[in-house]
Amino acid sequence: MTGPGSLVVEEMDEPELPPGGAVVELLACAICGTDAKMLEHGHKDLVYPRVLGHEMVGRIAEVDGKVRSYREGDLVQIWPGIACGVCRPCSRGHDNQCHRMGILGFNRDGGFAQRMAVPAESVRGGGLVRLPATVDAALVTLTEPLACCLNGQELASVRGGDAVLIFGAGPIGCLHAIAARYKGAGKVLMTEHLEGRRALLPSGLADRIIDPSVEDIASIVAEETGGEGVDVVLMSTPEVRVDSWVLKLVAPHGRISVFSGPKKGNYEVPFDVRSLHYREITLVGAYGCSSRHNRMAVESLLSGELDVEWLVTERATLEEIGQAFEHVNDRIGMKSVITKF
Ligand SMILES: [Zn+2]
Ligand SMILES: [Zn+2]
Repeated sequence: MTGPGSLVVEEMDEPELPPGGAVVELLACAICGTDAKMLEHGHKDLVYPRVLGHEMVGRIAEVDGKVRSYREGDLVQIWPGIACGVCRPCSRGHDNQCHRMGILGFNRDGGFAQRMAVPAESVRGGGLVRLPATVDAALVTLTEPLACCLNGQELASVRGGDAVLIFGAGPIGCLHAIAARYKGAGKVLMTEHLEGRRALLPSGLADRIIDPSVEDIASIVAEETGGEGVDVVLMSTPEVRVDSWVLKLVAPHGRISVFSGPKKGNYEVPFDVRSLHYREITLVGAYGCSSRHNRMAVESLLSGELDVEWLVTERATLEEIGQAFEHVNDRIGMKSVITKF
């Protein structure tokens, strides 16, 4: 990326092996909604030119001789966070909140390249997760978005029997639905206004997919929960305001997760805090994922228990990355993954 709206494919210098780190040869890197947003609008942390891409799987091409835990040829998934490992959030296991946080594909060059440098912090802090040789690298790129969902659902205490309402059935909303099912949610309701997206959802993913342009969400929630309300609301779209209307969808003791960053105009919302008080509702945030959630996500993807293949709707070469970004922006498919470099 050479500036907002500008993406080029060109030769660049080979990445240098960082002291204590590794150089990884990319096998697959998926395009995230965040990448598309950054490409369109730029981002305050971006210094150009920057190689984007933070949902990465590759093979270790070089590793510092002092590193004992990895070898050349190891197949790895890479947690995009670069955390110091010593600050207060890091030492409490919340390395996604590291005071000196860096992110591959953000502050440093990421995975839309043949090779990338992985710093010592990632190698030391468990940011490289070793994979079996037989794995489909494109599917394992779902690790990072799934890990973000696992973090969000842990914070929102999603548990067996819960009725869960997910706003937005894009890749993140779908991974939320898959993760909620995995945790034993009793009922999963989703909202999606795009017909094309609704058509992609396999049966069994949600008990009900609501089209908010013609259906009334509140009355369907009441109908589906016997008037109780849902236990958990997961915001997987920046479009919905977390306001008094959302609070009314939730059952006593319910949890609302501010998972997607809200869009401009939805940042500050007045609501009556008495509903939190009387009905013991919890409002909880979620941002990215820790290295622990990243490892959990790899484990659940490798278990084969999650039906995720259908989420990869396009595989493209690095040369075709412009079209691959269009696939994401068109929001017809789900995930577009670069699999040839
Ligand atoms: Zn992502
Ligand atoms: Zn830290």
